Parts: sequence; structure tokens; C-alpha cells
Amino acid sequence: MNRRYRKTVIAGNWKMNMTATETKKFAEDIRKHLEARPKWCETLICVPACNISTAMKAFKDLRISVGAENVYFEEKGAYTGEVSADMLKDLGVKYVIIGHSERRQYFCETDSTVNKKVHAVLNAGMNPIICVGESLEQRETGITSEWIALQVKSALFGVPADKLRRCIIAYEPIWAIGTGKTATAEQAGEVCSEIRATIRALYGARVARSVTIQYGGSMNEKNAEELLAQPDIDGGLIGGAALVPEKFVAIINAANQE
Ligand code: PEP
Repeated sequence: MNRRYRKTVIAGNWKMNMTATETKKFAEDIRKHLEARPKWCETLICVPACNISTAMKAFKDLRISVGAENVYFEEKGAYTGEVSADMLKDLGVKYVIIGHSERRQYFCETDSTVNKKVHAVLNAGMNPIICVGESLEQRETGITSEWIALQVKSALFGVPADKLRRCIIAYEPIWAIGTGKTATAEQAGEVCSEIRATIRALYGARVARSVTIQYGGSMNEKNAEELLAQPDIDGGLIGGAALVPEKFVAIINAANQE
């Protein structure tokens, strides 16, 4: 983390978990564990679209914002079942996850649709959390750096520097998501540094150092501190551990140290 130049952001990703009733219960439970409201890091939980309003009310006085897990890139129209950026913005959403590997894998999301969604979210005045990451096969073949650089460049294509400051990049090695296998702090730190180098080459050093880069992939209450100690890891995108109040609070506490 480097709080001098950029914000630390801890984001939960609930995926397709938690009903509205369970959301309210989670808020009650987390309230018991949060000793002080997070001060040094921004904290949010991205919830299923149907639970956004419930979560907004339930988390209101906890200083935990509510994010979305996905968005569609068109403004409005005949796209049955989709949710637009303006609809999310109107609910008070500030952050939207884009290009999660599960969306790429199960819902045909491509670098091109990711780029369109990034523009839609930025144009609506919200902040995209852009996920990139390599498969195990890609890592073992030795193409991680090139792969990630391409994903970052494609996602940011056409994004001007003043809007880039609102983007978060989440490095999520696919082999570490939901598997209990975490990248070592060195592996994660190395790729996050490379992501910053890619941004530096595109936008210059001043912009690059202001961008928050998260790590995601089985981050938990035990490994968070070590991962967050890496200079280019400015937070976490957390799946499984964000469903368990005490674990999520422990991660927030690791990021919230002065
Ligand atoms: C995620 O869903 O983005 C994620 C990192 O999940 P997990 O923490 O469960 O690996």
C-alpha cells in the first residue's frame, strides 16, 4: 500500500450469494465485529443487483458502500434482463466490478465488452473495478506479463487520463479465485507492479502512481496483511471471505492500519 499517492480500497464481491434477508442479517453481524468504522481505507461490498437498495439501507451507518457486480454497456433499450450504468448510478452506486473472470468464463465477456463497460461506468460518473488475470496454464507457459498487459491496455482503450484516476484495477489470477490457493505476496506484488508499469507507459508516472491496484484470489484474514504490505497492492477484491463478517472485518482491519 502507498497511501501517500492513492487510496486503499477493500471490496467484497458477493457473487450470486445472499438474499435480501441475509443481507440485513449480515449488516447486523458485521456491526458487532467492526470496532471502529474504517478510516484509512475505503470499504465496499458489491452485491447482486436485486439487493443493492436493501444493502444501501442496511450498510448506511457502517461506512461500507455498496457496489455492483456487473453492468450493461448500452444506455437503455431492448436488452431484457440487463441493468444500465444510469440505473446503478440512480441507486447511489459508486463502484462497479467489470470483467470478473467468472463473467468472462460463463457469460462470454471479452476484452472488447469490458472496454465498453468501462466507458459506460465512467460516463455515468461511477468507478469501475476492472478485473484482469491469467489462467494457470498461461502462468505455467510464461505469458502472464504479456497477457495481463494486453488485458489492461484493452480495458483502458480510449480512457483519458483524467478519468483513469477513477479506475481501479484488480489483479485476480484465475487459479487463485475461490480455490483457497493464494498467489504468494511476491507473485501478486510483481504482477501489480507490472500493471502499474503498463499504466505508466500509457499515461505517465504521475497518473500511474495515483491508480489503486487491488489483489484478489483467496485473500483472507490470514494472508491480507502480507499481501497488502506489497508496495503496489492497494487493497483487495474479496469473494469467499467477504461472506463471513468476522473474516471481512479482519481484512478491513489489516488495511486500516495507520
Ligand atoms: C473474487 O470473487 O473476486 C475472489 C477473489 O474470490 P475469492 O476471494 O473467493 O477467491
